[in-house]
Amino acid sequence: MRGCAIPLLQSGRPGTGRFCSRELICKLMTLRLFNTLSGQVDELAPADGLELRMYACGPTVYDYGHIGNFRTFLQVDVLRRFLGLTGVRVRHVMNITDVDDKIIRNAAAAGIPISEYTAKYVAAFFEDLEALRVERPEQIARATEHINEMVQLIERLAAAKAAYKAEDGSWYFRLKAFPEYGKLSKKDLSGMEDGARVDLDEYEKDSARDFALWKAAKPGETSWETPIGRGRPGWHIECSAMAMGYLGESFDLHAGGEDLMFPHHENEIAQSETATHKPFARHWMHVRFLLVDGKKMSKSEGNFYTLRDLLLKGYKASAIRLALISVPYRHQHNFTFDGLIEATAAVDRLRTFWRRLKDGSFAEGENPDIQTQATKAREEYFAALANDLNTAEARAPIFDLLRASNTAMDEGKFFASDRDAVLQVLGDFDRVFGVIEDQDAELTKLAIAWAEENGRQAEIAPELRARIALSDEEVEALVAERTQAKKMRNFARADAIRAELAEKGVAIEDSKDGVRWKRK
Ligand SMILES: [Zn+2]
Repeated sequence: MRGCAIPLLQSGRPGTGRFCSRELICKLMTLRLFNTLSGQVDELAPADGLELRMYACGPTVYDYGHIGNFRTFLQVDVLRRFLGLTGVRVRHVMNITDVDDKIIRNAAAAGIPISEYTAKYVAAFFEDLEALRVERPEQIARATEHINEMVQLIERLAAAKAAYKAEDGSWYFRLKAFPEYGKLSKKDLSGMEDGARVDLDEYEKDSARDFALWKAAKPGETSWETPIGRGRPGWHIECSAMAMGYLGESFDLHAGGEDLMFPHHENEIAQSETATHKPFARHWMHVRFLLVDGKKMSKSEGNFYTLRDLLLKGYKASAIRLALISVPYRHQHNFTFDGLIEATAAVDRLRTFWRRLKDGSFAEGENPDIQTQATKAREEYFAALANDLNTAEARAPIFDLLRASNTAMDEGKFFASDRDAVLQVLGDFDRVFGVIEDQDAELTKLAIAWAEENGRQAEIAPELRARIALSDEEVEALVAERTQAKKMRNFARADAIRAELAEKGVAIEDSKDGVRWKRK
């Protein structure tokens, strides 16, 4: 068994006998992930025993990212965070496609160079990832900065007679050169026509055709002067060249949305394996589509949302994150506003519980029931994630533990050792789920500033402005002042502070452990 994770043992409570044996921990933590290529659930571990080398297709930066895009990036984030939690070192490369058909068309329509056109969307993409607390890959690779590598790969394919130049100077991949074409998507490509060509970056033809590796320069288009002629790369060659450039000719995992499986990923495999005669990625992870209100998201249906649209409607980035990761990646996610409201409540409960644990004072000792529940929750949590990243099942034991702990606290049966054990489980939970730390007020401010700069003030939900009226420190100060006023029996002042907080979107609750507050 590989990848036995010592850090977990150390962060557990060795010697107490409460946490499972080393073998069981290893079993719980070895990730079994569905592999599109093999068609079954396979163990995922670094081939070199040291570092898991993974490539995930990044955005094409011609617009703001929509929630369907972010579902994929968030599910890949769940993967890398879980690997990190279990002690697996990750080298994750993500590309930015900053030249393609759409970008060239849109930049031309705006009358600006493509670099200027994409700069705005590249910056927005990273802001959005940060808002959603998606960890940065170790390497970001921009297509326009890797033209040489792509040209060299095309030359290699040409030398192997797998690439040819058409009359107009464009280069195509000869599908006949790769008899295994279709092995990833399992498409029946028997109707494949030799020599029939397609030069679009995206296409949905079932009968595959020779696809463009390099597109000859057209008047007015951005292009590069290279040994294979003047032009620009096709989309598929980018990912092959950059993945192999940073990770080697064979690597552990390739991830992306299910819409990329065909033709994009199939083409990546064909180009790469024809050039190297080695397996390209051993393991392929595909994140399923997102529907909104049961329908495919589209501008004409009126159910198309960017992250920014949702933030301006008053939804919190943390709740959007939780909603988008709580449906396991292999399930189709039907995104609804009810689901988002449920996620908002779940984030609030977690944060309130976390503060109660952090701020409460608990007598020395332990409650054996809570200890047992904490151990069980932790094991179930790890087991669910290790089982093909089942985030829905991983959440459930955490909320069970939260309920049991709250009840024990209310009954005075929760002690200092229980707090330590529960905090540790919650820490492991948040290492992957990433929603407990509250950055929402700051993010709301940024969303409002962005809307104001971009002429979208009308879309700012009124409650958003209330939400940023007070900083955390100002809330704490008012809460402390109210406590003091109550002590002095100045109930009028205490009530006035409660009302002021309520007006600015902060609810307070008195309990025997002190005052708790949360933003509504
Ligand atoms: Zn790609």
